[in-house]
Amino acid sequence: MRQPLVAGNWKMNGSRASIKVLLDGLKSGVGSVKVAEVAVCAPAIYLPDVQAQLQGTAIAWGGQDLSTEASGAFTGEIAASMLLDFGCKYVIVGHSERREYHQESDLMVAGKFAAARAAGLIPILCVGETLEEREQGITEDVVARQLDAVIKLEGVAALADGVLAYEPVWAIGTGLTATPEQAQDVHAFLRTRVAGHDADVADGLRILYGGSMKPGNAAELLAKADIDGGLIGGASLKAEDFLGICTAANG
Ligand code: PEP
Repeated sequence: MRQPLVAGNWKMNGSRASIKVLLDGLKSGVGSVKVAEVAVCAPAIYLPDVQAQLQGTAIAWGGQDLSTEASGAFTGEIAASMLLDFGCKYVIVGHSERREYHQESDLMVAGKFAAARAAGLIPILCVGETLEEREQGITEDVVARQLDAVIKLEGVAALADGVLAYEPVWAIGTGLTATPEQAQDVHAFLRTRVAGHDADVADGLRILYGGSMKPGNAAELLAKADIDGGLIGGASLKAEDFLGICTAANG
């Protein structure tokens, strides 16, 4: 039985003050989240604050990116060990905004997955197609290529140490959500692909949906057999909305 995970991706939003308000709201409401595991992925500079405020609570936290390298002359980069130093459990790798604006290749993303895993962080590997790719009918080719890069570098067993997130690029921050059927189709495709290598790994793999998930559409997405939680951008910035999604996983 896969425990759902609802993870917030704050992206480059917030301030020390607004994060305090948000986390106070999450802490006071998280008791009503009975089923899902809850996590927030914060801008790295705020991780000390997040750690101080969430230590000892039911809410986990993580980073939004990391370096492929362990340490050294990589100005501006953040190593897995540094995220661990501030108590991170998770780290997002291969978010479409990193792939698009920072030219992160499939191979680089696989390297980040490997670096996270080697350090004991749980990587949340994002895959997803653009609108153009969907319209060309190559959604499955795109997500397979992105997934296969990790399997090729690390072996399929590595996925047992991670989480997968299907995030159609056209649904991120746009207000457009994949229908539950569209999302389920891709999730099932991804699980079947992993099962082609290892059925047990596929069975245990949590596959999150991300793309304009909100309290109003979360329940029907989360009801699908292969949707094991959500990666939440905009709606993770308001405690009420984020908790609404987390409680939708209660069923
Ligand atoms: C995301 O950035 O991972 C995301 C899913 O964003 P949003 O929920 O705002 O579409």
